[in-house]
Amino acid sequence: MAGDGGRREPEEEILPERDGVLPGMIGENEGRECGVEHRHGEVLEAFLENFPDGILLLDLQGSVLECRMGTETTFLEIFRERMTAGQRFSDLPIFSEETVSRAVKAFEKVRCSGFCVHCEFPLELSDRTMFLEMRLFPAGRGHVAVLCRDVTELRLVERDLDLDLAEGIIQNAQEGIVVTDAAGIITMVNHAFTEITGYTPEEALGRRPSILKSKHHGREFYESMWRSLAEKGHWQGEIWNRRKSGEVYPEWLSIGALRDERGVIRHFVSVFSDISQLKAQEMQIAHQAYHDRLTGLPNRHLFRDRLMVEVAQAHREGGSLGVLLLNLDRFKNVNDILGHAAGDGILVAVGERLRGLVKEGDTVSSMGGDEFAVLVPRLVVPGEMGRLAREILASLREPFEVEGQRFYLTASIGISVYPLDGEDQVELVRTADLALRRAKEQGGDGYSFYAESMNQAVSKKLVMENGLRRALEREEFVLYYQPQVEVETGRLIGVEALLRWRNEDGTVISPGEFIPLAEETGLILPIGEWVLHKACRQNRQWRDAGFPPVEISVNISALQVARGNLVSLVAGVLEKTGLEPSGLAVEITENSLMANRDAAREIFRALDDMGVRIYIDDFGTGYSSLGYLKNFALSGFKVDKSFVDGIATCVRDAAILEAMFGMARSLELDVVVEGVENAVQLTVLKSLGCRFVQGFLYSTPLPPEMATLYVKKGFVRPPG
Ligand code: C2E
Ligand code: MG
Ligand code: MG
Repeated sequence: MAGDGGRREPEEEILPERDGVLPGMIGENEGRECGVEHRHGEVLEAFLENFPDGILLLDLQGSVLECRMGTETTFLEIFRERMTAGQRFSDLPIFSEETVSRAVKAFEKVRCSGFCVHCEFPLELSDRTMFLEMRLFPAGRGHVAVLCRDVTELRLVERDLDLDLAEGIIQNAQEGIVVTDAAGIITMVNHAFTEITGYTPEEALGRRPSILKSKHHGREFYESMWRSLAEKGHWQGEIWNRRKSGEVYPEWLSIGALRDERGVIRHFVSVFSDISQLKAQEMQIAHQAYHDRLTGLPNRHLFRDRLMVEVAQAHREGGSLGVLLLNLDRFKNVNDILGHAAGDGILVAVGERLRGLVKEGDTVSSMGGDEFAVLVPRLVVPGEMGRLAREILASLREPFEVEGQRFYLTASIGISVYPLDGEDQVELVRTADLALRRAKEQGGDGYSFYAESMNQAVSKKLVMENGLRRALEREEFVLYYQPQVEVETGRLIGVEALLRWRNEDGTVISPGEFIPLAEETGLILPIGEWVLHKACRQNRQWRDAGFPPVEISVNISALQVARGNLVSLVAGVLEKTGLEPSGLAVEITENSLMANRDAAREIFRALDDMGVRIYIDDFGTGYSSLGYLKNFALSGFKVDKSFVDGIATCVRDAAILEAMFGMARSLELDVVVEGVENAVQLTVLKSLGCRFVQGFLYSTPLPPEMATLYVKKGFVRPPG
């Protein structure tokens, strides 16, 4: 604009009367009086003609007396075109009200003060805004001269510079920035946005910020955010978003609504920073507060917290839990002899060994110094703690390698059990500590329960465990056989092999007393193998003797199902003894079946394929679902004695039994009723449709010689 219109001739016709001329500037009248001055006047005129700024001369009222176009200021044409002579400068329609009032003020100021005033106005033209710079100064006799310059281009360049600056700031910001329109559609993102979220501008523009939404927050969270934006115009807080990679991360987010001059929301600007590192640091700090620096294990504080939680849980569920405190024996020697660094190394190694011995869900903790603790929640029997203590002691007896040297260590352990030895975490730690002291007093390398009764039970168990180990070597086990009879005919259909332990002093110990310990110690595996051999060999002998064929039933423990190589064991034993698979049945209790469902299904399938029969033992004492029975390859089940006990008097028991018989018939399963002790029970059972029984009414479990007599006969008649 400026400078585009070339020069304009001075407009003679609107030049005002002589007395309105700018003093010393447009002084052509005075210049005509003498030649020098005339020449000065010409020079001045030439100067004014080439003057880049427009010049207005205003009278006392602000009416335009003269208007001169500057070489660079073509816009004054607008004035000239629109202005009739004598019109006031401020009446021009291109001025807004505000501009007019400012112009009038400036004009008055110059007139009254005699000072020069510098101001700038935007002029709203039909197609654009023009920025007009004006310098007003007194021109004598109350006149005001105004130098006008079009500074639009300058201002636009400045504005572009501002925008460029803003763009530069936004793009280089460390924080992610997203701008959306009022409808929430993304219109701009910066580099940090792409860096943090993984979305390029092309992928983000035109979509909604919900592309970043994670499933961390519920509907209420977003609702309250929008409410705050609508009411207060801003929201800030912590939010979990999802990167393009799918990773969820925390960010600190501020959202602001940008409104136009009428207060209508035009944009939302979100500024966010990824605070995952900050969070990780926070977590690390929290971890340090609750973990031992040396071993990395939970420390005393965390142990107490967890113990408190577990005690509350055990209290609610009526369950039990165990606390084990461990202190290394004479650990001071290690530090004295090997130095502290080596001592630290051993503590770390002890922690690792402990961690390797406990179950998932147990807590191993470093209590400070050479003291460790183990929390065992959901304890089934207190004896588990004894077993864990023995395993720990055995593991610590293995040498530690320190700086190329082997070092031997032992420890003492104290155990307390909830709710027996304490009702809360403080009491449980105190009683475990007392038990630990007792273990130390007994010379170390041992463990002690707080409750004396537990210690006695433990020592009794220890004696029995040693005895059991010897029993296998010394052939102290014997199999007894109890007949199973067809009610209708009295025919002997099978015998159940029941284990007895004939001690060195001749006392016979029943399986109820030693099988749980054999299971706890794993000794049941070799014992079970022995039973299987013995039973199969016995049946082979009976068949070889030409006796009527019977089925021999062998009880299988849960551990054999879970850990044993049962299928290959059975196959091997059958092959070795030469017994036909149809001569063998296995019994497994409902509970051990449920504990090892998947393993059991496979094993049963393989045994069934082999031709070995499978019975569920003690049916009715556990899960008791005939529904699931059809998913297993079963031959039948044995009804627990407890159902028979009340059968003559309890209508409910009788009804349950009748239902069991009916269902078994439709599933084509055999049912053997156990524990039939008298004729009344037998009569009722018969009336309910019972076919096979086992019980003292017919016979108690018999030693081999006596059982052989029954097998030979092939019949068992109840007395009377
Ligand atoms: P079970 O397999 O349910 O065996 C039946 C138990 O009931 C036997 O007890 C038997 O003597 C007893 N019994 C049978 N008829 C009557 C009766 O009319 N009245 C009463 N009161 N009791 C009767 P036992 O021999 O003491 O065996 C107990 C449990 O020990 C067995 O229960 C079985 O679960 C387990 N067991 C026995 N031998 C072995 C074995 O070789 N291996 C495994 N893993 N467990 C065995
Ligand atoms: Mg049985
Ligand atoms: Mg049974």
